[in-house]
Amino acid sequence: MSKLNIVLFGPPGAGKGTQSAFLIQRYGLVHLSTGDLLRGEIKEETELGIAAKELMDRGDLVPDHIVIGMIRNKIEAHLDAQGFIFDGFPRTQAQAEALDEMLNAKSEPIVAMLALEVPEEELVKRLLGRGETSGRTDDSNESIIRNRIREYEKKTAPLRGYYQAQGKFKGIDGVGSLADITDRLVKAIG
Ligand code: ADP
Repeated sequence: MSKLNIVLFGPPGAGKGTQSAFLIQRYGLVHLSTGDLLRGEIKEETELGIAAKELMDRGDLVPDHIVIGMIRNKIEAHLDAQGFIFDGFPRTQAQAEALDEMLNAKSEPIVAMLALEVPEEELVKRLLGRGETSGRTDDSNESIIRNRIREYEKKTAPLRGYYQAQGKFKGIDGVGSLADITDRLVKAIG
């Protein structure tokens, strides 16, 4: 059977991490979140983590070669996976092209790009709320949050077109109860 490789897409605060948890359970997928991987490196105080922290704390993107390298290692470490959920990756055109190259080389392409759609003011509200408990510097103030959303609009949102051109883009309303949003995702996966 072909693998269920999915890109879960959307701005910061759209609910990608939350919904990933449901989808990995339901479909037996491996979750690859570059944000989680980077926070792991920061916690371990690796050279990579120390370099990434400054950028992440400002809400800027980390360089492509760093996140592409991390994803490559993880794909190679899970060759037996039933599929991957890519969460927070790809975030630039270069990352999307690198991912396609890696997966196409294995004849296991992305089957769908599910884009959670949430209005900006709702995103800011959610992230400020999360900041009260997450301890994440990048959730702690509104100007950093708005910078993340700007970075998303400038560098990441154009990837809709990249996946639309491949016939893989599916927009999902990301406002509502958690269960309703999961249902919409499951329907879109089909
Ligand atoms: P969110 O989607 O809520 O912003 P993430 O955990 O996905 O949270 O990302 C947090 C930060 O990690 C980003 O603002 C960015 O600095 C860095 N990051 C995560 N993934 C990538 C990526 N694919 N490319 C570049 N930077 C990334």
